[in-house]
Amino acid sequence: MYELRICHLYPDVLNLYGDRGNILCMQRRLQWRGIQANVTGVSVGDPLNVNDYDLFFIGGGQDFEQEVLLQDLAKGKAQQIRNAVEEEKTFLAICGGYQMLGNYYKTWDGHQCDFIGAVDLYTIGGRKRMIGNYMYRMDEQDGGMTIVGFENHSGRTYLGEGVRPMGKILAGYGNNGKDQTEGARYKNVFATYSHGPVLPKNPLLADRILRTALRYKYPNLELEPLEDKYENAAHQDMQRRMKQKGASAH
Ligand code: GLN
Repeated sequence: MYELRICHLYPDVLNLYGDRGNILCMQRRLQWRGIQANVTGVSVGDPLNVNDYDLFFIGGGQDFEQEVLLQDLAKGKAQQIRNAVEEEKTFLAICGGYQMLGNYYKTWDGHQCDFIGAVDLYTIGGRKRMIGNYMYRMDEQDGGMTIVGFENHSGRTYLGEGVRPMGKILAGYGNNGKDQTEGARYKNVFATYSHGPVLPKNPLLADRILRTALRYKYPNLELEPLEDKYENAAHQDMQRRMKQKGASAH
C-alpha cells in the first residue's frame, strides 16, 4: 500500500483560521484514493528527524507565537528543516509559517526575529494589516490555476533571487501589497499567505502538493481524479463573490 508520512509542525502553536483543515483535507484526499496518510504532530521540545517524513505542514501564527518558537527552532529543528528543503522534500507553509521559513521578520514595533533561513526571503511588519478575502493565479509552471483564500498579516514579504512567487495577485494584497506577487515557491516548498484553510476550497492545489510529495517517493504514481463537486462549488462561489466586488472584495 502507498503511504505518505505527514509532519505537522507546531500543531498546537501555529493554527490560525482553521489552518489544520489543510491536514484533514490532505488526509482525506489520500484515503479516498486508497493511500495511507500518517500524520504526526511535532511541537516544542519534540525531536524532529526529517527523514521520518515525506511532507511538512506549518500553519500560521501571530507575531507572539512566532517569537515563542525561536528558541525551539534554534535547538536543531531549523537545521533539520533547512536540510529537508534542500533535499527537495515537500512543504506547505501558511502565513506565519511561511514567514518562518525565511531569513528574518522585523515586526512593525521593531523586534527582529531571525528565522530558519530555509528559503531566501524576508518580512517587514507594517502598521496597516492586510486583511480580507483575496485571489491569485498560480504560475504557469505550477498549473496556472486560480487560488482563493483569506489573508491577515502585518508582514510584507520580499523574495530573494532563486525564489519565485506562487502566483500573481488578482484581488487583495498578497506578499507585500505592492508588487502583485503572492507566496513563494522554492524547490518543493509551497508557501502562501492563504488561510481559510486553503486546500479544501482549492482542490487543484491540494492535489498538486500531494502529487509532488508522492512522486518524490513513488515516481510513477498517478493520482486518480476525485469528483470534487462541493470543493469546486465552494471555490467557484468565492471567485464569483470576489469578481462581483472587484479588487477591494473584503
Ligand atoms: N505574524 C504575522 C503577521 O502578522 C503572521 C500572521 C498570520 O499568520 N496570520 O504578518
